[in-house]
Amino acid sequence: MTESIVPQLLDGYKKFKSQYYDNSTTYEELVSNGQKPRALLITCCDSRVDPAILLGAKPGELFVVRNVANLVPPFDDDPKHHATSAALEFAVSGLGVNDIIILGHSHCGGIHALMNRKEDEPQRDFITAWMNIAKPAKEKVLAQYPNSDPLEKNQHCEKESLLISLANLKTFPWIQERVAKDDLNLHAWYFNMNTGAIEMCRDEEIGN
Ligand SMILES: [Zn+2]
Repeated sequence: MTESIVPQLLDGYKKFKSQYYDNSTTYEELVSNGQKPRALLITCCDSRVDPAILLGAKPGELFVVRNVANLVPPFDDDPKHHATSAALEFAVSGLGVNDIIILGHSHCGGIHALMNRKEDEPQRDFITAWMNIAKPAKEKVLAQYPNSDPLEKNQHCEKESLLISLANLKTFPWIQERVAKDDLNLHAWYFNMNTGAIEMCRDEEIGN
């Protein structure tokens, strides 16, 4: 059995407590005033893309949603369990964040699975249907870059899927409303793990 990470995590917690409790009033203020994060960040569950570490954010600054491949589903008010949409609603209508940042990344396992999935493969319990949100990105990449190597195709798909999620954000009526009033900004960023660069993606800059 590999060595447990638990002692290291408990040690990390001691440092956190010393920094934010024993020597600071950060949490005293966050508890009495409540949280007022100004940005909602949607990123992947990938262990290499921790938004607070990546962006140097402190407690209370970022409202974070993490899911497989940082996807935003389209608005759908059926009575199923929509975890990402519920978090979006709370951040936008409850907390009133001013920016939504979708943070994608290279070497994404979810996108890799989507790109490599064969149509006749048996479906996974949850991942297949979830990743189908980005299926139009896969189809576009296969049509536009038939001769690219697999890594390049994945990277194109990672970026194209950001645009699908951006478009899906605009299907939520309370997001549309605030964007129309210029009260909410939408961003798509892409973290390239090979170079360390974060690319700011806009509809017109990616894809073609
Ligand atoms: Zn990922």
